[in-house]
This record gives sequence, structure tokens and C-alpha cells, in this order.
Amino acid sequence: MGGLLAAQPAPASPLVRHEFGEPHMGTTFRIVLYAASAEQASRAAEAAFARVAGLDAVLSDYRRDSGLMMLVARAGGPPVVVGPDLFRVLRAAQDWARRSDGAFDVTAGPAVQLWRRARRILEMPDAAAVGAARSLVGHDKMTLDETAGTARLAAAGMRLDLGGIAKGFAADEAQAVLRAHGVTRALVAAGGDVVVSGPPPERAGWSVEIALPAPLRDPLAPALELRDAAVSTSGDAEQFVTLGGVRYSHIVDPRTAMALTGRSAAAVIAPRGMVSDALATAVSVLGPADGLALVEATPGAAAWIAREGPAGVERVESRLWKERGGSHASARVH
Ligand code: ADP
Ligand code: MG
Repeated sequence: MGGLLAAQPAPASPLVRHEFGEPHMGTTFRIVLYAASAEQASRAAEAAFARVAGLDAVLSDYRRDSGLMMLVARAGGPPVVVGPDLFRVLRAAQDWARRSDGAFDVTAGPAVQLWRRARRILEMPDAAAVGAARSLVGHDKMTLDETAGTARLAAAGMRLDLGGIAKGFAADEAQAVLRAHGVTRALVAAGGDVVVSGPPPERAGWSVEIALPAPLRDPLAPALELRDAAVSTSGDAEQFVTLGGVRYSHIVDPRTAMALTGRSAAAVIAPRGMVSDALATAVSVLGPADGLALVEATPGAAAWIAREGPAGVERVESRLWKERGGSHASARVH
């Protein structure tokens, strides 16, 4: 009967670029998306930011009432039931701790705090303090029970720090919310962690430029073209302290409780932000050789790693990175 009319699809409204920003997790979350209407765009972005705020309330190590801090408060006691988001992040963190031989470890909290204080008071922590922190760090001291949905920290005084994985996870989740709102071409940038879905209209990918400190950067490196992928950078460009002529990073080696020394930077591409984020931190600790081996063993991952040593700057690129013809990134987006 009226079949002819129904067969004509309505002409699609052209997609328009919209940009939003909000402070979360100690950085600014930026969302760039393409949508058919301003209403759809702002509804989607608002929902995505709300999801990030919800995650911050659970994963934060600053808020005493976060799910994370409630777990930490019971360190040395019985297992604690944790919510599904925290459990997912802890499970991934434990996975990366094992795969990186402990180079990435969210139980590094006591060591991270020790060096945060050193940056504040400009004083080197003494050997006893480093030793005390080290005795409280170790992924083998955290036990997860999938069936019961619980986590247990073996020793009183343990602290968790999700600073090396939470922003990547939150960016992934923000993308999931955008998708649920019909937005399939979007970029979410959380500081040095960027997750993109489909490319802008008539483009092959999002152009993401990686801002790395000058001595490490390759000035000829082109911007990355990314779609349906994540990229994270890690390094001591912004957060470090120089004590006794040595530069100490905000990234620690959990196995020694010492801050990394010397300039280093890494950029990692992976299918998801939680993976690129954790991997970028892990690779910073592992250094070029072992870091590259971990990246090559991770499906879909690519990396660029640089470290300044006595003999100058050493730069390595993984096989996939070379194939992509890629290079560096911060969250500067065109
Ligand atoms: P940023 O968040 O500064 O861009 P990263 O993703 O590398 O860079 O995360 C660094 C943060 O991760 C530190 O500020 C600290 O909170 C935490 N951290 C430091 N060292 C480690 C480590 N070896 N494993 C896991 N988390 C770490
Ligand atoms: Mg990280």
C-alpha cells in the first residue's frame, strides 16, 4: 500500500563538530565529537562526563569515601566487596603487573607517596623510608576473588594508586557512553591518554600529535592518524624533581620503591585506553629493550620509547609502529 513512501530514507543531517571540556581526575577531559544536532552532541557529552565523574568517585585515592579508599582502609584485614568498575580496573592492573614482571603495579602507592612528598619538600627520602615503602608494595600482596567480587590487601599500610591506568579506562568508558548516544565519531582526551572511535567525516583518522619533551622528540615525526584506537603517553616531562643533580620522575619502579631517574618518554597505541595507559607506564619503567619486548607480545599494541642515557638519547619503535609510519602524541588535536 503506502510502501513507496516508506522506502525513501530521510536525508541524513550533516554531521557537525562539537567540542566539550571538563575537569576530572586531576586533568581536563576533552571530548570532540561529530553529531547531527547540537542537542544530541551535548546530551552525549554530558552523559560521558557524568560517567567519568562517577568513575572518579570510585577510583580516586584522594577522596576518603571512594571505593578504592574503603578497600585501602581495610588493608591487612579480610577481603572487601568492591564494585564492578573498581574490580575491572584492579583485575586489569593485576594482569599488567604479572605481564610486566611488576614494572606496572598499582600497589606502588606507598612509593608514589614517598616521592610525591620528596617533590614537595625538595628532599631525598632516606634509605629507611624507601625500604619501608618497598615492603608494602607488591602485586602478590593483593588478592582478587572473581566469584565473590572481593579484593584483599595482605598488609596493613598498603595503598593503591590507579594514576597509571584510571584515565585510560575512564576515556574508554566515556566512548562507550557516547556510542550509546549514537555518537560513533569521537575523540576523548584525558591529558596524555586519548581514545578515538570512528574518524571525522571524510577523513581516514583523527590526527593526534604527541607532545614530548624536546630532547627526546623527533622533530620530523608526523602526527598520528588514528581511528578506533587509543594512544597514551607517559614520561617525566612535567612531574619530576632534581635532587643532588639527579632527576627523579613521578613514576616509580615498584620493585625498588625508587623513582625513575633520567629523562624518558613513551607513547603506546593499543585497541583500548586502559591497555595503552597501563602499557605506557610499564614501558617507562622497563626501558627501551624490555619495554619493546612487552609491546611486541601485546596484540594490537605499538610503541615509541625514548630514554636519555650517558651515551645520549636512545629511541626505539615497535614493529607495528614502524608499519603505521607513526610517531609521537599529546592531546593536541586538529
Ligand atoms: P600521567 O598520568 O602522569 O600522564 P602515567 O599514566 O604514566 O602518566 O601515570 C603515572 C602515575 O601512575 C603516577 O603519578 C602514579 O600515580 C602512578 N604510578 C607511578 N609509578 C607507577 C608504576 N610503576 N605502576 C603503576 N602506577 C604507577
Ligand atoms: Mg599510564
